[in-house]
Amino acid sequence: DDDEKPDVVVATSSAPPPPSQQQHEEEEDPREHLNLVFIGHVDAGKSTLAGNVLYLTGRVDKRTIEKFEREAKERNRDSWFLAFIMDTNEEERAKGKTVEVGRATFSTATRRYTILDAPGHKDYVPRMIAGAAQADVGILVVSARRGEFETGFERGGQTREHAMLAKTLGVRYLIVAVNKMDTVGWSTERFDECVTKLKPFLKKCGYTIKKEVRFLALSALNGKNVETGLLACLDSLPISAASPESPLRLPVLARYYDRGVVATGKVETGRVSKGDTVVVMPTNLRAKIDAVFVDDARPVRSAKPGDNVTLRLSLTTIQDLRKGYVLCAQPPKPVTSFTAQIALVDLLEHRPVFTAGYNCILHAHTLDTECTVARLLRVNKSERRCFAKRGDLVIARLAVPQSICIEPFDDVHQLGRLTLRDEGKSIAIGKVLSLDENDDDDD
Ligand code: GDP
Repeated sequence: DDDEKPDVVVATSSAPPPPSQQQHEEEEDPREHLNLVFIGHVDAGKSTLAGNVLYLTGRVDKRTIEKFEREAKERNRDSWFLAFIMDTNEEERAKGKTVEVGRATFSTATRRYTILDAPGHKDYVPRMIAGAAQADVGILVVSARRGEFETGFERGGQTREHAMLAKTLGVRYLIVAVNKMDTVGWSTERFDECVTKLKPFLKKCGYTIKKEVRFLALSALNGKNVETGLLACLDSLPISAASPESPLRLPVLARYYDRGVVATGKVETGRVSKGDTVVVMPTNLRAKIDAVFVDDARPVRSAKPGDNVTLRLSLTTIQDLRKGYVLCAQPPKPVTSFTAQIALVDLLEHRPVFTAGYNCILHAHTLDTECTVARLLRVNKSERRCFAKRGDLVIARLAVPQSICIEPFDDVHQLGRLTLRDEGKSIAIGKVLSLDENDDDDD
């Protein structure tokens, strides 16, 4: 059964130490923590760039690099060695394709970062959603190589889809890395051409270009402008994490059993501390937090918004926890029906009408579930139509088969964004406006 597999393969971190082991908890690191997601079309150079960032910040040593270089050579893919650092799964290496969301950490003098390396392959967009739902900054990698930029940016290419999803999932800043500049002789014209094509599109996605988007020319392969450009740019982004004073919201990204129930996820709001009792939503179970870890199993007393954590919980079985459940203090009401505003960005050709009864997959924070349109309330602000088409902005009541934990966007942004997908394609993006009362209150 699919449920037993970890939802995200944590590539570089090890399981936390067992509960019995005496551990010294560290004080909170005063440096701010940011989550990064690498997005963009397949082969744009995401893994290579992430690999080089880890190398340049000292997270991988020369010997490991050399080992990867040798392995890549043996497989006749010598230029891929940096990508090997991120793609640790054997199957991926053989294929040369990033299929899981890898995770790795690095730090600079001023900030700590976690990289969620999103894959560019079309089939893996749901995983990209899981990564981007946690990210503060998206690094949109595009290839400047002639022909490659164009392919990635065409209809059906992932440059467009990823950028659009990133915005709805709460990625606040976008750094556009115009990569492979070495292949065009660092031509300013080519760089400007890519930037000019991207700008109007990113605006349409909802980004304010001046404040929220930065463009950089670089070469991931030889590292040019990675340290002085990309890392400097990351350190300078004016981001401050959500307030730790609000009640805890921690969507579960993955859970597994290792001498006890272990969960991973990002603290969206509030704070989680060792010894706290949290409520697991939507089931209303109570659980004690036995231990909190950040960055690759480093024990801490408490974690704040923005931190990626691994938790040991006093739950008896792994069935008590699922991807998409939310750990809360002062929990919101679980719902099976809610009202949302959604933009129908790309309905399927053979299902061109969005109307009551339409069913698809709902993605919100780390959650995915079946979902049905119960009712269309408004189309394009004022019209009272009972159907909608591609390009329409609708307000609709949506229903899900089992209680879920989401919140109005205006209350908690991170728990109020959603994406609808159908047959593996993103058809709509939007936000939760309000929660409906549960009719069948059976819990
Ligand atoms: P991903 O699918 O986006 O993760 O792309 P990869 O990182 O696997 O890179 C795809 C291919 O592009 C590999 O052959 C890389 O060596 C190559 N590549 C990545 N960055 C650069 C670059 O800056 N210059 C050149 N010439 N090739 C690059």
